[in-house]
Amino acid sequence: MVQAASFPIQQPHYSLRCPLCDSDYGADPFQLSCQVPHAPALLRAVYSTKTMTVNPRRPGVFQFSDWLPVARWFGVTGKPITYASTALAHYLGLDRLSISFNGYWPEREAYLLTGSFKELEAPTVLARIPEADPRTLVLASAGNTGRAFATLCSTLKIPLCLVLPETSLQAIWATKPFHPCVQLITVGAGGDYSDAIALANLISQMDGYVPEGGAANVARRDGMGLTVVDAALTLGHIPNHYFQAVGSGTGGVSAWEANLRLLQDGRFGRQTMTLHLAQNAPFTPMVTAWQAGYRQITPTTEAIAKAQIDHTAAKVLTNRNPAYSITNGVYDALSATGGQMYSVTNQEAGQAQELFEHLEGIDISPASGVALGALMQAVATNKVSPDDAVLLNVTSGGIRRVQQDYALHYLKSTLAFSPRDIQLDVVQRRLGGDLCKT
Ligand SMILES: *Cc1c(COP(=O)(O)O)cnc(C)c1O
Ligand SMILES: [Zn+2]
Repeated sequence: MVQAASFPIQQPHYSLRCPLCDSDYGADPFQLSCQVPHAPALLRAVYSTKTMTVNPRRPGVFQFSDWLPVARWFGVTGKPITYASTALAHYLGLDRLSISFNGYWPEREAYLLTGSFKELEAPTVLARIPEADPRTLVLASAGNTGRAFATLCSTLKIPLCLVLPETSLQAIWATKPFHPCVQLITVGAGGDYSDAIALANLISQMDGYVPEGGAANVARRDGMGLTVVDAALTLGHIPNHYFQAVGSGTGGVSAWEANLRLLQDGRFGRQTMTLHLAQNAPFTPMVTAWQAGYRQITPTTEAIAKAQIDHTAAKVLTNRNPAYSITNGVYDALSATGGQMYSVTNQEAGQAQELFEHLEGIDISPASGVALGALMQAVATNKVSPDDAVLLNVTSGGIRRVQQDYALHYLKSTLAFSPRDIQLDVVQRRLGGDLCKT
């Protein structure tokens, strides 16, 4: 199968560094961890260009490829947009509130058509992999990540094996029909996101498949960190405060890493941005650990976690294994930035969603309501001052608007598993042959 056109980027313009033992590695597109045996740590990308130059001739996120670990670029539409709020800012009594809007909002030139900031990481992860690599990328998702990758892989004709809980099927839609290079495997019979992750792990160990890597993939983090890069370029300075709803915590770590790069650049001030990260009650494992001062998340039983997840409106925030304790993870990001965590109820999130739509004029998703709910708590408890520069990451918005403007196509399941079939021999038998290759 021939992929859609892509264009090489001069290599290598980055290296990988371990934050724990300082080992340096070359620009290996598949390396996800340090090779020295020590506690787990998230590698960081180090770019040879310290001064970011936006390249307006490249599309979407690839304008920022100075600070992306990519080997090539291709046609994409979207990037984060940053604008100064007036109505919401006035309502909250904030003089300098900026919105990073990630989604679809044509009046503001926001064209992430899958409706979330997962569409910042999908192109960068795919562009890190050389075009010649014949293997199929394997990815587990509960929704937004799967939709972003499925849409992009379909457009670019890059083979993808997407593993989802059956209950998330309705989340995988696109504005164009899907190409058969995207294959979907569902876990039914009560299987959840964690079961999908377990199945994806087994598949990715088979010949011909390669794991995407999640938070450990520097391309994922540096793609998400573009929200902060775009904000600093638009505003001319690094904000004082950053608000985001988190599930895996990857976006919070990315925001901190982007902040460090902007400090090295030197043109955007010396601010260490305080991270304000939020989860949706009752599923708040990182909030509980952080507020107790723990680097480790207190384990709960699977039954308790599943019951909490059932009662959570923003399902995209319900990752049971977040990048929290790991070196260079959320705990370290919060510690380094004087950060805080917030627990936001479904009711607070719902009211925040309505408020945003009423004042700013576009629908936002429950996770974005959680972030705004946290900002409202912070204002009410004087954690931000009226003249502080505040950046609110609307991680997903305009999905209702997409549905008004486009007819949607849904991806159908190629193969269904039940949780008890998630064993290597069963997987090998059922995926024997070339399921995910076309
Ligand atoms: C994935 C997701 C988040 C949480 O992202 P992290 O990986 O925890 O940073 C927040 N909002 C939306 C809309 C998402 O899809
Ligand atoms: Zn190391």
